[in-house]
Amino acid sequence: MRKKIVAANWKMNLDLTEGAELVNDIFNGSPELNENKIVVIAPPYIHLTHTSAQLVGMNHVHLGAQNCHAEPSGAYTGEISAAMLKSAEVEYVIIGHSERREYCHEDDAVLSKKVNQALANGLKVIFCCGEPLAVRDANEQNAYVESQLTAGLFHLPVTQLIDITIAYEPIWAIGTGRTATSAQAQDMHAHIRKVLANKYGETVAAETPILYGGSCKPSNAAELFACPDVDGGLIGGASLKAAEFLGIVAAMSNA
Ligand code: PEP
Repeated sequence: MRKKIVAANWKMNLDLTEGAELVNDIFNGSPELNENKIVVIAPPYIHLTHTSAQLVGMNHVHLGAQNCHAEPSGAYTGEISAAMLKSAEVEYVIIGHSERREYCHEDDAVLSKKVNQALANGLKVIFCCGEPLAVRDANEQNAYVESQLTAGLFHLPVTQLIDITIAYEPIWAIGTGRTATSAQAQDMHAHIRKVLANKYGETVAAETPILYGGSCKPSNAAELFACPDVDGGLIGGASLKAAEFLGIVAAMSNA
């Protein structure tokens, strides 16, 4: 049975006090979770140690990071390695977010090295893909996303796919308030699952969680998560307020 996941991407938001309060509120308000219905919280690096301590005893809520470096160690001032994340009890790392692709110029080659570093250090990967508006307007989104998956992930042997979650995040829906319709999300998620099946077989495709990201909120989460190929969400803005985030977690839990 494939997992349903709601993952919080705090991006560059919340100081230590605000972050601790938010985790505490999530702890107090979380609906029933289990090993197939889980939450991931990916705060900025500076929070990780403290958030990790807060999550002890919070069943099925896992610690994530928003990035790792493509090299194992060395003279990369300001960077954090996958091994360091592992040593901080991190379980998941987001790789390939469109903001890092755009603002940090992370290309397919560097992203595939990051995926390798993460997996080599025992981390699970949430690999982001998604098209810009011009590609959607040209109706070329399927080929665009397929090429991102091919370049970032498809060098992996089938045995490593167990540690991969895919997040489909159309760039035109991130932080814009403009959500993909549930039909658009379902179409793309079904396409991604077909691409996975062609490369790795039906079993892997059926077991790989595919999350939707882009202006997901409590008011649209239930409809999105009811789609057969949408296995939860990667949540930006709405993950910063406990009530909103918990509303989305509840939609996943009830789906
Ligand atoms: C994201 O950046 O991963 C995201 C989904 O952001 P938002 O929910 O704010 O659109």
